[in-house]
Amino acid sequence: MKFEMDGWVDPSEKTILKVDLVETEDLRTKYPAMFSQPCEISIGKGWIPLIDRLCSMLQRTHDYNQHMGYTQVTVLQVKQKFGGLRFYYSVPEQVHLSEKTKWSDWASYVHGAVDFAESMSHSICEQCGERGKGRDHHGYYYTSCDAHKL
Ligand SMILES: [Zn+2]
Repeated sequence: MKFEMDGWVDPSEKTILKVDLVETEDLRTKYPAMFSQPCEISIGKGWIPLIDRLCSMLQRTHDYNQHMGYTQVTVLQVKQKFGGLRFYYSVPEQVHLSEKTKWSDWASYVHGAVDFAESMSHSICEQCGERGKGRDHHGYYYTSCDAHKL
């Protein structure tokens, strides 16, 4: 569906937000334990540095504290919804009773870090990574800088 004559373009056609495979492969290569399962990454490349920082932080914290029962985070899906980042993950529950409390701290930590990254995405252009803001294009919500406004 395309109505270019009156200046309106179906946002699903105009938004060329999807990252190319090379960039998502970089993430998978850099964080093999986090991306050990098939996982869809469908976001613009402007958010890749944000995801990269998030993964780096989570993996590093896990690696340092593994002996305390911090379980490996696995990424399930990374996408955009209502203009913001959605980062779906799993933190397998700790089975050892003695490490349950620390695992619970870890799960809260991961939740907080992901929440913050998702919140940050609302001020970062999904296409280029410059400062952006939330926009509404005929009911299609996205985050962009002025240059990448639809
Ligand atoms: Zn931009």
